[in-house]
Amino acid sequence: MQTMKYFFYTFLTAFSSVTFGQSLTDSIALEKIKTTSNSNSSISQAIRQLADINGPRLLGTLNYYNSANWAKQELKRFGTDTAYFESFDKQYRGWTVKSFNMEMTKPNFMHIIAYPLAYTKSTKGTIVAPVTFLANNDSLKYLKGKLKGKILLLGQDFYSFNTSHQILSDRVSKELLQQAAENPDPNDLMIGYHSRRSTNEAIASQEQRRVDFKSFFQFCEQEGVVALIEPSDYPYGILHTDGNHNVPSYNKQKNITPIASFVIANEHFGRLVRLIASGITPTIKLNLETTFNYNPEYNINVVADIKGTDKELSEQQVIIGAHLDSWHGGTGAVDNAAGCAVMLEAIRILKASGLRPKRTIKICLWGGEEQVFAGSRAYVNNHVGNLDNGNKKKDFQNISAYFNLDNGTGKIRGIYTQGNSKVKPIFEEYFSPFKASGNGTVTLQNANQTDHELFDALNIPAFQFIQDPLNYISVVHHTTMDVAEYVNENDLKESAIIVAYLIYKVANQETLLPRRDFISVLPNLAGSTTFFIEGFENAKSVSLVSDFNNWNMFGTPLAKVKGGWSCKLDLSKGKYLYKYIIDGDWTADPKTPKEKLLKDGKGHAGLTEVVVK
Ligand SMILES: [Zn+2]
Repeated sequence: MQTMKYFFYTFLTAFSSVTFGQSLTDSIALEKIKTTSNSNSSISQAIRQLADINGPRLLGTLNYYNSANWAKQELKRFGTDTAYFESFDKQYRGWTVKSFNMEMTKPNFMHIIAYPLAYTKSTKGTIVAPVTFLANNDSLKYLKGKLKGKILLLGQDFYSFNTSHQILSDRVSKELLQQAAENPDPNDLMIGYHSRRSTNEAIASQEQRRVDFKSFFQFCEQEGVVALIEPSDYPYGILHTDGNHNVPSYNKQKNITPIASFVIANEHFGRLVRLIASGITPTIKLNLETTFNYNPEYNINVVADIKGTDKELSEQQVIIGAHLDSWHGGTGAVDNAAGCAVMLEAIRILKASGLRPKRTIKICLWGGEEQVFAGSRAYVNNHVGNLDNGNKKKDFQNISAYFNLDNGTGKIRGIYTQGNSKVKPIFEEYFSPFKASGNGTVTLQNANQTDHELFDALNIPAFQFIQDPLNYISVVHHTTMDVAEYVNENDLKESAIIVAYLIYKVANQETLLPRRDFISVLPNLAGSTTFFIEGFENAKSVSLVSDFNNWNMFGTPLAKVKGGWSCKLDLSKGKYLYKYIIDGDWTADPKTPKEKLLKDGKGHAGLTEVVVK
């Protein structure tokens, strides 16, 4: 009786809530998803377990490994067909803070709001030392021989905050969502945080920092500096605690271990600097105890599948993912236990609702996202395609889409389509049931700097959702305040419903999601247009991106020749705009003077025109 009544009710509500573009079956599916979401939600427990019980989940640590084990068990409990670990590069090590304290003892007492930066060494017990201010790196040479037993304040990043007009927590306005939906330019950053850039670029710049800072840390040790202190770039005593100048100190092979380093409250840093400017040398008492561990078995992604029910389509995959790792200063509650909780809940809902998707649905919880996508980069390289040269691997043809969630706790307000205009109308239809509640915006805009970027680089349809910013960038992002208090569970619940419905739709549609048109214009010796870029002898790859290959990063490779890189192309008559990609780095033609570089009005800048007659 209960069941029948319930079924009748479901049927009625389903019928009454059918929206444009949605069939009755879809509507019933969505009702099932919503009903399932309302019973036995796994979201609260995920936040409790990951953030409060396990704590911060830095790459390579036991906390991370415990979290991966917990997530795997949770997926088994939901009834996925598989749930397993996949290891990625072995060279990463873990690091944990055991104890620390910091106080100003002269000219008078002040407890300093401080936190150690990741992967830094312990001090030799408790130290009481005067501080010296280093305005910028250039002035370092003048301090040679004057730093023994001193604490160095690193001032190059220091600036005061005007906090009086900062909005700490907010939602995206209806008007802005509307503008984003209509904006044709994928590179126009209207909402969200990061537009297009390349992962290789991020790795390259990190490598440069490694060289710079390795020698800086060595200099400090040789000179007898006892600790480094830098200001937080957040206001209100919030500490921005991520990597030590983003040097790859988490990588065992790079052999770089910074001396005891702290970030302290911007306001306390300011006082120390003002004291020094007044001719007073403050004294600080501090200690730091940290441990390093090397457990290569901790370097894993968590993967699970719900096998597709359709014999032919089950080969194909719809993947969802979020990163399970976090920085160490808070508990990684918002970045990104929140995203994991939503993706796990979407899987639970799909299993528990009895909906049986035709394609295989896969969930990947990544490790080492904060270390330039260590986990997802290895996964894509192993299964999808080589990220250096674009060579395809086994799963390339079979992945319909990858969906990522990593912009905080704010509910999903729609989706970024990475300039894929063919997917836009499809998503507009799939998001139509959420339009009325303001959560159905589909924009062409790019969103980057998280794990979908690696799939996107190979032109797999790969997406990050538009999310309400809430306190994300203003308070919690990589800070000591990334804790469970800032998780909005109602928002996460709404997001899980959207993800579950969306992947159900993508898994059941007739074809794979369409990919962007990437065109390969391969070099041809008989070609009449020659491209030549001088130098870059040590580059591993150079290619051309242009409107003639629809900005396909792997479409037109150059060959190494004497003195540079070159290719000949057989282009039809017309004008084209181009730039080079050198080891993943989008680079303007150095022969074109800066002031002559062009924009195409579609988001590509730094371009040179070539006319083919
Ligand atoms: Zn994140």
